[in-house]
Amino acid sequence: MALIKEVKAREVLDSRGNPTVECEILLEDGSLGKAMVPSGASTGAHEAKELRDGGKRYLGKGVLNAVSNIRKAIATKIIGREAEQKSLDAFLLELDGTPNKQKLGANAILAVSLASARASSASERLPLYAYLQKLYGSSSLSLPVPFANLINGSRHAGNDLAFQEFMIVPIGFKHFGEAARAIVEIYQTLKASLEKRLGRSAINVGDEGGFAPPLQKTEEALETLWKAVQEAGYANQVKLALDVAATSIFREGMYFVDGQTLSSSQLQDFYTSLLSKFPIISIEDPFFEEDFASFASITKQFPNLQVVADDLTVTNVSRLQQAIQQKAGNCLLLKVNQVGTLSESLEAAKLALQNKWGVMVSHRSGETEDSFISDLAVALDCRQIKLGAPCRSERTAKYNRLLRIEEEQGEAAKLAWIR
Ligand code: PGA
Ligand code: ZN
Repeated sequence: MALIKEVKAREVLDSRGNPTVECEILLEDGSLGKAMVPSGASTGAHEAKELRDGGKRYLGKGVLNAVSNIRKAIATKIIGREAEQKSLDAFLLELDGTPNKQKLGANAILAVSLASARASSASERLPLYAYLQKLYGSSSLSLPVPFANLINGSRHAGNDLAFQEFMIVPIGFKHFGEAARAIVEIYQTLKASLEKRLGRSAINVGDEGGFAPPLQKTEEALETLWKAVQEAGYANQVKLALDVAATSIFREGMYFVDGQTLSSSQLQDFYTSLLSKFPIISIEDPFFEEDFASFASITKQFPNLQVVADDLTVTNVSRLQQAIQQKAGNCLLLKVNQVGTLSESLEAAKLALQNKWGVMVSHRSGETEDSFISDLAVALDCRQIKLGAPCRSERTAKYNRLLRIEEEQGEAAKLAWIR
């Protein structure tokens, strides 16, 4: 295993025009790895802490302190160490010493962790997904089914939709390329229908590249989306999914949805009605991030529904353990920056899969051109990835990386749907 020779860090920009951290690691054998960190808008309260500078510069969102933590506190300690992922990540945790990485910043730590993985894959002359597969120990690779967020609402858009993400799920395909094509055709069909019905302002896009039309009601958004699926000719191969991001609509014990104020059991009734009208196969964060009991209730009521835990579990092994015990959900949303190191993300994935939970690797609403998560989803053989719409380069970077991996792997890594 090669030793770390040089560590560089800098401030770059993410897809929302906010600063983020980039790290570059050079190993003694000449291998180089670079990584950029994403950033959320509907961040869970239990996520690892993203360090922001505050003050006037970049309206407080600068990351020069995180960059400086890499250049000084981290670089001086890891230069000369082996780039072995587990021990490096453990060492970074030790250096930080806080439970939520607030001292060095999860954005500083994650940039180093991911850059080191890339440098190691180069050193072993392996594509990143093959290196990650080895690291994780999965026996097979697969291309994940992309969850494409085509209508954006809530904190990701300037409209009145209460729910954050209205997604399509192309489950009826053998190849990732075919699934990507279906997504694009549905996306363009939806665009034409929104423009025709609501005018040009309806085709502006939100943070994840999906449209942010001036719709008010959840059902209206689902109807519009499902019509586009049908019109594009994919009704037999495509299903729907939601990310409610319910913490964003929760205040003082109640949920604010479509002009109504709902209790958690009334919200569950609302889901029951949506599930009876639309082919929805997956709902993420249906309830507030502390409400394990309501997650358990909906999971029990609909055994065939995928209930995805995002803000509830924040890619954190102990939160996930609690959710597994309480049967609060049945799929982990895996976001590397929620926890802050690659090793901890892999541990969370392992715990989920061992307990027969699904794992969906996910982007953030603030992204970069870094496509690390595409390789990660292939390596974990987890069969699901959340990618946003096929629009804006920070989103298409992930689609395009998966198209390249599919070409490279051919039949060896077919598109696979959940077990
Ligand atoms: P975020 O949203 O990246 O803004 O947190 C994505 C999600 O909630 O899944
Ligand atoms: Zn979410």
